[in-house]
Amino acid sequence: MSNHTSSFKKRSRRWFLFASLCALLPLAGCALPTGQRKASALTKGESGKAPAGDGPYHAPPLSPDEVDGSKLERSEKEWRELLSPQQYNVLREKGTERAFTGEYWDNKEKGTYYCAACGNPLFSSAAKFESGTGWPSYWDVLTEHSVETHADRTLGMVRTEVTCARCGSHLGHVFNDGPQPTGLRYCMNSISLYFEPAEG
Ligand SMILES: [Zn+2]
Repeated sequence: MSNHTSSFKKRSRRWFLFASLCALLPLAGCALPTGQRKASALTKGESGKAPAGDGPYHAPPLSPDEVDGSKLERSEKEWRELLSPQQYNVLREKGTERAFTGEYWDNKEKGTYYCAACGNPLFSSAAKFESGTGWPSYWDVLTEHSVETHADRTLGMVRTEVTCARCGSHLGHVFNDGPQPTGLRYCMNSISLYFEPAEG
């Protein structure tokens, strides 16, 4: 084999690896900032909220002291009817919204973040911080019944998936590089959340 052919092969293999990596990155979600991410064309109005009339949650929202760890069971058929296609993709099919496109990554208002599917209170604005990732990030959950975690070995990575403890919907992932006092970074999809501003 000539040197020319072999270096061509090497180059094309390198190109293939590079292209595969580029294809995987946007799917991984919640990576630390690269400074190169751009907001997509998805705007607030298209963020996948359920049609008006359905209300923001698909079960009555709970106040933190009403939470008792009970589960909300619904069939996938019911979820498909209740959620918008974008919500269904993230909440039930474990999709990831693109960084800097969601409604809440830059929200600095005081209030409570609920599960958009079932109204389970998940996070307080008091535990929200700027992670620079383009996804809303929190260093703690609101109640002991807010979320559950599961090992996630998809996309060639080992991550910890976060689901709603009440309805099992996918919310995002949690990482160990968050701020004190917990050192955790709950990296969530805005579309999985619904924010209620604090009163007064
Ligand atoms: Zn839920």
